[in-house]
Amino acid sequence: MQHYAIGVDLGGTNLRAAAVSEEGEVIELLDAPTNGQRGNDAVLEAMAAAIKQLRDKHGRARLLGIGVGVPGFILMDQGLITDSPNLPSMKNFPMRDLLSDLVDAPVILENDANAAALGEKWKGAGRDVNDLVLLTLGTGVGGGIILNGKIWHGMKGMGAEIGHITVNAAGNPCGCGNVGCLEKHASATALEAMAAMLFPDQHLTAKDLNTLADRGDEKALMVFDRMGDALGIAIAALSQIFNVPRYLLAGGVLPAWPHFAPRMIQEARRRSFNFRYCGDANRIAPAELGGHAGLIGAAYLAISGAKPV
Ligand SMILES: [Zn+2]
Repeated sequence: MQHYAIGVDLGGTNLRAAAVSEEGEVIELLDAPTNGQRGNDAVLEAMAAAIKQLRDKHGRARLLGIGVGVPGFILMDQGLITDSPNLPSMKNFPMRDLLSDLVDAPVILENDANAAALGEKWKGAGRDVNDLVLLTLGTGVGGGIILNGKIWHGMKGMGAEIGHITVNAAGNPCGCGNVGCLEKHASATALEAMAAMLFPDQHLTAKDLNTLADRGDEKALMVFDRMGDALGIAIAALSQIFNVPRYLLAGGVLPAWPHFAPRMIQEARRRSFNFRYCGDANRIAPAELGGHAGLIGAAYLAISGAKPV
C-alpha cells in the first residue's frame, strides 16, 4: 500500500497543504486563507479543514502523519510556537497538540525555512549532498541549515537566522534590534527600499526592478550589485563556519539571479578561502523546488518519522 504524508506551509496570509507520496511527489495541493486576523482558533480550523479534505480523499489508513512549516520560533519538544512575526497572535501557542487532536493524527512542527531546506535536501538541489545552507529571499531573508541530513535548530529553535547576520557594520536599523542585517540588503523589501531612493517618483516592486535590470538600467543593476555584495559577505561567513558543499538560494527574488549572482559569487570567493580551496565542490546555486520545498520538507518530517528534538 502506498503511504503518504500531509505537508502544510503556514504563511501569514495564506496556507497551503499538500498530500506528498513517500517518494516525495506532490499528489495534491490545496490553498486557503490563514485567517490570522481572526485569532489562533480560526487558523487551526483553516489548517484542519485543508488536512481533512486531503485525508478524506487519499485515505486515513495510508496517512503517515502531518508536518507543518511555521513562520516562527518553535520549542520542538513541546510543540510550542513561542513567537511568530507574521502571526503575532501566536505567542507560546501549543499548536502541535491542538492540531493533532483536531485531525486525529500525529503532527510535527518545524520552522518554515528549515522545512524548505530539508525539502531541498531530500528532493531538490541538495539531494546529492548531506550538508547544505538555504537562504530564502522574500519579504525577509530566512535561513535553514542541514548538517548530516538533519535540520540544525540551535537553542530554542532560534538557530539559522541567517537574515540577521550583520553585513554592514553601520547599516540600516532592522526590526530585530541590530543594524545592517543581511535582510536589510537582500530581501524584496530591501530592494524596494533601495529603489525608492534611486527612483523617488516611482513605486517600484522587486519585480519591476528586475525588469528594469533586464533592460540594462544602470540604477537597477546597481541595486542588484549591492544585494549580491551583501549575500556574498554572508555566504563567505557561512562558508568559513560550515564549509558545506551547497549554498542554495530560494524565494520570490530568485528570478533576479542573473543580476545579483555574479557579484554574490565573486564576493564570496574573495572573502572566503574555503571557496578558493574547494572550488566547485563548494557550490552556490539556485534552489530547485520553488514554493513546493517547504511542503515537501514538512511532509518528509512525517514520512521519515522525525522526532521533535
Ligand atoms: Zn535583523
